[in-house]
Amino acid sequence: MAKKWAPILELAEDVRSGKVSALEQVKKSLRLIDEHSEFNAVISKIEKRAIERAKEVDAKIQEGADPGRLAGVPFIAKDNFLVFGAETTAASNILKGFDAPYQSTAIEKLESEGAICVAKANLDAFAHGASTENSDFFTTKNPHDNTRVAGGSSGGSAAAVALSLAPFALGTDTGGSIRQPASFCGAVGLKPTYGLVSRSGVVAMASSTDVVGPITNSVDDAALVLDVIAGQDPLDGTTIPRQESYLTPNSTFNLQNTKIGIIKEYFGDGLDPDVRNKIELAIEDLKKAGADVVEVSLPSLALALAVYYIVCPAEVSSNLARYDGQRFGYSFKDSKNLDESYEVSREQGFGNEAKRRIMIGTYVLSSGYYDAYYKKAQTVRTKLTNEFNEIFTKVDFLIGPTAPTTAFKIGENTQDPLAMYLGDIMTVGASMVGVPAISIPCGDVSGLPVGLQIIAPQKQDRELLEIAKWCEEANR
Ligand code: GLN
Repeated sequence: MAKKWAPILELAEDVRSGKVSALEQVKKSLRLIDEHSEFNAVISKIEKRAIERAKEVDAKIQEGADPGRLAGVPFIAKDNFLVFGAETTAASNILKGFDAPYQSTAIEKLESEGAICVAKANLDAFAHGASTENSDFFTTKNPHDNTRVAGGSSGGSAAAVALSLAPFALGTDTGGSIRQPASFCGAVGLKPTYGLVSRSGVVAMASSTDVVGPITNSVDDAALVLDVIAGQDPLDGTTIPRQESYLTPNSTFNLQNTKIGIIKEYFGDGLDPDVRNKIELAIEDLKKAGADVVEVSLPSLALALAVYYIVCPAEVSSNLARYDGQRFGYSFKDSKNLDESYEVSREQGFGNEAKRRIMIGTYVLSSGYYDAYYKKAQTVRTKLTNEFNEIFTKVDFLIGPTAPTTAFKIGENTQDPLAMYLGDIMTVGASMVGVPAISIPCGDVSGLPVGLQIIAPQKQDRELLEIAKWCEEANR
């Protein structure tokens, strides 16, 4: 798919040097969003505010002031980020009409460097899903085949980047929601270390694994966006100190000294043979270039999906308790009393998947079942963390596919939630243990993109970007 945007650094440089105005960039992005509206990547546009902000950036340049590293670069945020200028719905009816009273830290940081949010992208409602089919509004179509899903939950963000609606998009990843849609759409999707990017102002899903990250056209662009949004934030107590820089200068990476683990559990029965073939070719490249590639086993990974689908709904059920029909968005107006207002607002406002997760979550947290499910899941989660820690004393990175298949057909899994959940098998492990992971394009199968997933130890996001950049160049 032809890219309509230069690398982000170049774009910003063009604006700063006066070659093109911020206003022209923003108008181009808004026009492209309209031209490709049939893919349903975007829920709402932020026209008025984006144009005002573009004029501010241009005025700064006229005055000789510094407009920032991302001067005039348009971007699209998943609609679970609080952003001024459009509703924040998280693609759920219960949040319809909700205007953010403040902006998320990631958005504030991007704006302070001159970037301009032009639209909000579609997602599975509250980020629950892997295809955007759980959006209460519409399903995003895959840019490579409009009968197929774009992945999810950040499917709108990934499709937006693949369609070149903007140079980059923000997504969130709780169990794979940045990496899997990036894989399905042929984009780069980075899930940073848990806590590296503030979650302040992001609609909470499962707070112990929610991570903010970029979806981009290249590893360089992902590194630049991460460099802007990473770091401690007083508004999010789980944030951690950042590495000095995430920018990855050319050719610094030495594969001769690198040990890479192939995750045995990811190459089992469920893996599509054509996807397997593409991943194996990428691994061959690494070997040829001198990397020490060994097969490794993480036995508890087999349980990661079960653990995720207990811990995640448990956290979802408490996080969604705040949508009571009184404080945010939709409220049922004809209730006789407050209890009825809570009940009917939630009954009418939440979609089926949110209700399913609330029910599973409250079940596994209820007395009598807490020990049998939630506590057991947390115990296995610790075991999994220990296994990852142990493996990372032996290898520098782990590598495998991002998803077992390429993009599936719209409707293929909607009647079978378990089949949908099974597709997350390769992404939930890194989420449960909080380590950084990236999906980069790795060829295609009959025109449908394949994603290569690389996983690094905690807080080694920069090293992850460096090897990803090497692989990206080798895959071209
Ligand atoms: N597909 C996974 C789920 O449905 C992951 C979602 C996410 O990362 N937000 O929970």
